Amino acid sequence: MMELRGLPVANSLTEAFKLRINQLKLGGITPKLSVIRIGNNEDDISYERSIIKKFSSLDAVAEVTGLPYDVRQETIEAVIKKMNNDNNVHGILLFRPFPEHLSYEKIKSVINGDKDVDCMSQTNMARLFSGEKNGYPPCTAQAVMEILDYYKVDLAGKKAVIVGRSLVVGKPLGILLLEKNATVTICHSKTKNLPEECRRADILIACAGSANMITREFTNPSQIVIDVGINVEEGRLCGDVKYDDVADYVQAITPVPGGVGTVTTIELLKHTIISAERYNAVVRI
Ligand code: NDP
Repeated sequence: MMELRGLPVANSLTEAFKLRINQLKLGGITPKLSVIRIGNNEDDISYERSIIKKFSSLDAVAEVTGLPYDVRQETIEAVIKKMNNDNNVHGILLFRPFPEHLSYEKIKSVINGDKDVDCMSQTNMARLFSGEKNGYPPCTAQAVMEILDYYKVDLAGKKAVIVGRSLVVGKPLGILLLEKNATVTICHSKTKNLPEECRRADILIACAGSANMITREFTNPSQIVIDVGINVEEGRLCGDVKYDDVADYVQAITPVPGGVGTVTTIELLKHTIISAERYNAVVRI
């Protein structure tokens, strides 16, 4: 079994980013991400810390605006609009899910698609699904593709099975895999004979958010397994794949922690750099 660790992928991307950030700095531009956090969810705060650490280690900027849990709809829209209009802000990220009193649909429509580095807006979703290359796919889905690319997994004609159909991971990942000519099946909670569907996969991607649900009977010995799930069970972080049951049976597998999650923050940085580069190209015309 080969372990597909996220760190070498992240490191190799980071090296290339240093050059690009330096180039931008020569033109007087520092890539900047503005993060909006609503409330004080511990997972959000911990993700926020890792984003700030990564960005500042490369001389980019990530700034957090914390809003109270009971924030009004008008307030959050005003905060987003201010970021939309700030030429020094190249990426905007909102932690999800939102409190129920806020309209997710409305917020999605306010965020400027050109700064929407985690594919929240309808504009970016449409770009992704119509194959336009001027948007930003969701960072987690993109991180999976980055891992497959780094470890030279050939996708053309391969059967990829995704467990999970959310708009954040499963569905966009299906599109990205199709673009690489994989034959894609997206499964969900109503899928019949799930273990059998999964067993047929050359590449199995678990993004269900259900701890340890993928056991050996879902896999086959030549399979590559990508575990997107981040769950806490008995106080420990684990994926959707029961690692100890599956790892020595399949061809390759991503660990949790240390797999997809390690690359996701890097994708956020990548999209922010691309946005800054696009802005730079426009102001120089
Ligand atoms: P959602 O809850 O939005 O979606 C889960 C999907 O999985 C749904 O489509 C659901 O089906 C399906 N599903 C759930 N349980 C089962 C089951 N037992 N059998 C078959 N299908 C099932 O989750 P997200 O997409 O937001 O996240 C998925 C996982 O990825 C989570 O563990 C999350 O923590 C993790 N994650 C990891 C990131 C990273 O950087 N590594 C970033 C973002 C998320 P249905 O539609 O029928 O309800």
